[in-house]
Amino acid sequence: MCCYRVSQIFNFSNIFMMDQRINNQMTLSEKIQLKRPFIIAGPCSAETEEQYISTALQLADLGKIDVLRAGIWKPRTRPGSFEGVGSVGLPWLQQAKKLTGLPVAVEVATAKQVEDALAHDVDIVWVGARSTVNPFSVQEIADALKGVKIPVLIKNPINPDLELWTGAFERIQKAGIESIGLIHRGFSSYGNTEYRNAPMWHLAIEMRRRHPEILFLNDPSHICGNRHMLQDVIQAAVDLAYDGIIIESHIDPDNAWSDASQQITPAVLGEMLNNINWEKEINLTPSDERALNELRDQIDQMDDELMLLLSKRMKVSDKIGHYKKEKNMTILQMKRWNDILERLTRKGDKLNLSDDFIVRYFNAIHMESIRRQDSVINGGG
Ligand code: PEP
Ligand code: MN
Repeated sequence: MCCYRVSQIFNFSNIFMMDQRINNQMTLSEKIQLKRPFIIAGPCSAETEEQYISTALQLADLGKIDVLRAGIWKPRTRPGSFEGVGSVGLPWLQQAKKLTGLPVAVEVATAKQVEDALAHDVDIVWVGARSTVNPFSVQEIADALKGVKIPVLIKNPINPDLELWTGAFERIQKAGIESIGLIHRGFSSYGNTEYRNAPMWHLAIEMRRRHPEILFLNDPSHICGNRHMLQDVIQAAVDLAYDGIIIESHIDPDNAWSDASQQITPAVLGEMLNNINWEKEINLTPSDERALNELRDQIDQMDDELMLLLSKRMKVSDKIGHYKKEKNMTILQMKRWNDILERLTRKGDKLNLSDDFIVRYFNAIHMESIRRQDSVINGGG
């Protein structure tokens, strides 16, 4: 009998390994490296000393939380919403640390906030989604962190742009921060999706592929924006071998001053964590394994054929580019493209391929064709 962990199948290192070395003497950075799942929880915002301390005590009682979170300075989309209590809340966090023994994490967006947080023994700071989009803000935070030894977590930018996320990572790294983590909190998209911020899992997986050695957390609260989808999103993240989660929890979620609809009580969080299937053991017999390998061989072969076909298709498209150049035609022929999509989605229906997939797949091919024709026509190709 052969035993795989999902994490091994995804080939992500260290995931869900309850390492022997994990103990209370470990430094926070070591824990970040080794403790799986790594769980950060706390209210969206620290509102009053009483609210923060009682939430922190209840969370600590669960025995499953590694770090307490708190929003002290809240970046709000519209003015007039609660913008955080500011530095007066920092001593509450110190008190929560003392009472629970847990480290605390806070979002920072300016150099002054970094200084205030550090002056009050904050253990981890994170860069919020609205800061990651702005290289000026990230650089200011990075400069304020020079010479400081605390872990820094970086949320994905609001918009689906991995270069901005990577840029923020590089700026923080250049400041000399050794312990860096990434937080996937979903991406804003115009119009209605069922999520507050669409997860766009493929982008997070690509970021993870680029930085396999870095702590990678999911933030189900800001992805969902509601309570009823949290459990499923946490499970999805666990199945994709994330290292852990950062989640919002409040003693009285309905009356929270920010993000009320997505917060849950510590007790509900405890139940959710109990319901998660953290470590899917997949037991494969040698014959299961052979069958799986045969299927994988088929996939590899088909992928090779697809690559050859794609290359052939692009060569034809180059020839069309030369033709368009000669006849002085525009690259994009809208009617032709609509006809292609219509024909292929109709065909897709018969072949059990969804319209959405067909449109996305052929859009990618079409964009590459246009890029190549552009270089034929304008780039002297
Ligand atoms: C938060 O964590 O409370 C927060 C403001 O998150 P984000 O930066 O993901 O919007
Ligand atoms: Mn929030």
